[in-house]
Amino acid sequence: MENFDIIIIGSGPAGITASIYGSRAGLKTLVIAGPAPGGQLLQTMDIENFPGFEHPISGFDLMTKMINQSKRLGTKIINEFAKELDLSKTPFTVKTGANIYQTKSVIIATGANAKWLGLESEQRLIGRGVSSCATCDGFFYKGKTVCVIGGGDSACEEAIFLTNFAQKVYLIHRRDQLRAAYIMQEKVKKNPKIEIIYDHIPSEIIGENKVSGIKIKNVKTQEEKKIDLDGVFIAIGHHPNSEIVKGKVKLDDHGYIVVDSNFQTSVPGVFACGDVADTVYKQAIVASGTGCMAAMNAIKFVESV
Ligand code: NAP
Repeated sequence: MENFDIIIIGSGPAGITASIYGSRAGLKTLVIAGPAPGGQLLQTMDIENFPGFEHPISGFDLMTKMINQSKRLGTKIINEFAKELDLSKTPFTVKTGANIYQTKSVIIATGANAKWLGLESEQRLIGRGVSSCATCDGFFYKGKTVCVIGGGDSACEEAIFLTNFAQKVYLIHRRDQLRAAYIMQEKVKKNPKIEIIYDHIPSEIIGENKVSGIKIKNVKTQEEKKIDLDGVFIAIGHHPNSEIVKGKVKLDDHGYIVVDSNFQTSVPGVFACGDVADTVYKQAIVASGTGCMAAMNAIKFVESV
């Protein structure tokens, strides 16, 4: 059984930034990275809102640079999958399929996944006109026509944001009433660039290598219609990857890890950062920022025990 000062679970920008701080503090730091280190960003083609890169950088390249930076500073990064955590006593124990590790402090940075509709055409066109993040990709749709799928606060917020670029935004919702807060609904309804289409679900996203339209079905009449457009933004919620700590640290009603202002969970010495503890921003730069803050507090914790 190998012992560490800090074990970080997750290898997106939050986890890797935390590991850079842990290693630079001279602490023995392990990242349990899972089978594909890099997290959600691996699916992103062009990132141009992460400072420091004059030209767009792919998610793969950005994460490879971060991982190499952390390794150079002494972090051990393993491609194992964390299966079980014992947070009931210190040192904490992390079990992967292959090994058992002990640590003074744990940082959970397991991220969140956007929920998808599950259509074959949607999965094929992710990064080619299908996106789950208007903040990340809206800029590419200047003067174009796009749609947002969903009726919650995220869908409304994304639709409003997209009107900064697109000439027309369809908001397509499966019911005859939006779920979003009243004030958000009013903003959407008052925006002349947004057209709400109620009672419809997507049946196919059209396009070979690039989105050119969407087929939607009326859930009441089963009638199908086609809309020509350039981008489809899926905003039907996120799923935080918090299963590993369920019942061990406090989660909110949606499964996000609850942290205090030091990014510490309900268990002293256990911290969380990035999208698994972020119900609002879900941006790589924010994940890196919270990774830094969680690590600085984990370092203090380790030095105090
Ligand atoms: P959400 O509130 O769960 O809304 C998801 C929306 O997607 C719902 O309208 C739902 O339809 C629809 N949907 C779910 N699965 C679908 C499917 N398979 N096909 C078609 N539509 C589907 O998620 P969210 O909007 O991401 O918000 C999550 C939480 O963050 C909420 O508590 C929200 O208030 C909060 N939030 C707040 C703000 C803000 O205050 N500025 C911004 C964003 C998010 P139904 O309505 O029919 O269920």
